Amino acid sequence: MKTVIVGAGISGLATAHALLEQQPDLELQVLEASDRPGGKVWTDKSSEGFLCERGVNAFLNNKPETLELVAKLGLSPLASCDASRNRFVYSEGCLRQLPDSPPAFLASNLLSLPGRLRVALETVIPRGNKSDESLAEFATRRLGREAFEKLIDPMASGVYAGDATQLSLKSCFPRIHEVENEYRSLILGLIRLQLKALANRESKLPSAGPSGQLTSFSGGMSVLTTAIASKLGDRLQFATPVASITRQGVRYTIHLSDGRQEEAERVILAAPAYAQSTMLRELAPEIAGLLDNIPYPSLAICCLGYKREKIKRDLNGFGFLVPSRERRQILGTLWDASIFPNRAPEGYALFRTMIGGARSSELAQLPEDKLVDLTRSEIASIMGIDMEPEFVAVYRHSKSIPQYVVRHAQRLATIESLLKKHPGLILTGNAYKGVSLNDCVANAYLIARSLRANS
Ligand SMILES: Cc1cc2nc3c(=O)[nH]c(=O)nc-3n(C[C@H](O)[C@H](O)[C@H](O)COP(=O)(O)OP(=O)(O)OC[C@H]3O[C@@H](n4cnc5c(N)ncnc54)[C@H](O)[C@@H]3O)c2cc1C
Repeated sequence: MKTVIVGAGISGLATAHALLEQQPDLELQVLEASDRPGGKVWTDKSSEGFLCERGVNAFLNNKPETLELVAKLGLSPLASCDASRNRFVYSEGCLRQLPDSPPAFLASNLLSLPGRLRVALETVIPRGNKSDESLAEFATRRLGREAFEKLIDPMASGVYAGDATQLSLKSCFPRIHEVENEYRSLILGLIRLQLKALANRESKLPSAGPSGQLTSFSGGMSVLTTAIASKLGDRLQFATPVASITRQGVRYTIHLSDGRQEEAERVILAAPAYAQSTMLRELAPEIAGLLDNIPYPSLAICCLGYKREKIKRDLNGFGFLVPSRERRQILGTLWDASIFPNRAPEGYALFRTMIGGARSSELAQLPEDKLVDLTRSEIASIMGIDMEPEFVAVYRHSKSIPQYVVRHAQRLATIESLLKKHPGLILTGNAYKGVSLNDCVANAYLIARSLRANS
């Protein structure tokens, strides 16, 4: 049975790798529109020695599938520096460290005393009764307005470049949704989960935030996707955009933009949802319509390098996020050279600032010089670093991260039921069940296992 995968981002590449692991002689082709593998995984190394990630910065080492894939490829992962556990938010005129434990939270002045007391009241708030609600509704209901605005809203822009009033809690943070369903209170649920883990002598205790250590590679994230691509060899074709898919009986025809065609019994679409929508317009117009409605805001990344000795403040941390209530022009800045040891030449700092996203998509479209000016002035005002950068790089994603808005789960259920009419057609990628690189890799292995079970 011939299989064609469309798209060589991490989703398409990891799916190809997982399928070949199961069946090394599988007739398989991966068709990629651009002239390189990786999609949103794209590392740039400048002639000055700065290593900038245009898209994916790192993954958390808390999912076995990605770590196993890295090991099978013979790659050496690079753990983030310990200091990067210190995370900051910009609040009321200065950077404040996010507390990393309940006692630190109680002692911290990030929230006012009434704000902290309102968080403590979470333990007596009844379970919610909506099947799907926004992250903003959920967090305000359980933790209060202040905690939502100062702690949860910046998480929405940091992970999704999203708008917390639109994102679905259950689709974006399913574990939190499950904890409320199971235990009613997040705080009490977490305590019970930790006690259970202690009783079972588990080495890792459950936590409210993402657990695990940020991980990349010495040469940046592209090391991973390049390694998979080179294993695929000539099964992977670049500069081969797919225009549409049609079907005659059990065979699909994949129509390429240059007029050529490929035939296959199984087609796995791993391009972004809007591209899958275009490909499916004739074959499955209803699915195409649903996919077309998944929003992708624009995002710009501005990397600035500075001489370290000229910076007076300490940079021991991951960087900071900016809540929307602060009405600044950036979503946050990562202190890249403090996260991984080799992101800047000796004696330099590298800052990676995100601009745009769902709340201010138009800012990401500004001309390059305006983006640099805006970033410089925000870094000057927020971090007190007011000087000419020695290095500048700007990257743009006109369609960045798919937004799992309220009713995303319902949309997926409808798509799944419509797909029953198209046996052998599989939709994957970060638009469905998790936006992180870890989710994309885990989904690749799920697909491979389910195909083996059904073959
Ligand atoms: C700026 C940014 C930063 C991010 N940072 C992180 C991070 O630090 N950690 C993390 O876990 N996740 C991060 N993400 C999320 C990231 O998007 C996913 O983890 C993952 O890389 C998505 O992979 P994918 O293969 O599903 O999609 P993509 O990477 O978008 O790949 C899709 C591929 O399909 C190809 N394609 C498109 N149309 C066609 C066509 N018609 N024919 C053939 N091929 C086509 C594209 O060229 C592309 O190569 C970030 C995303 C962005 C935008």
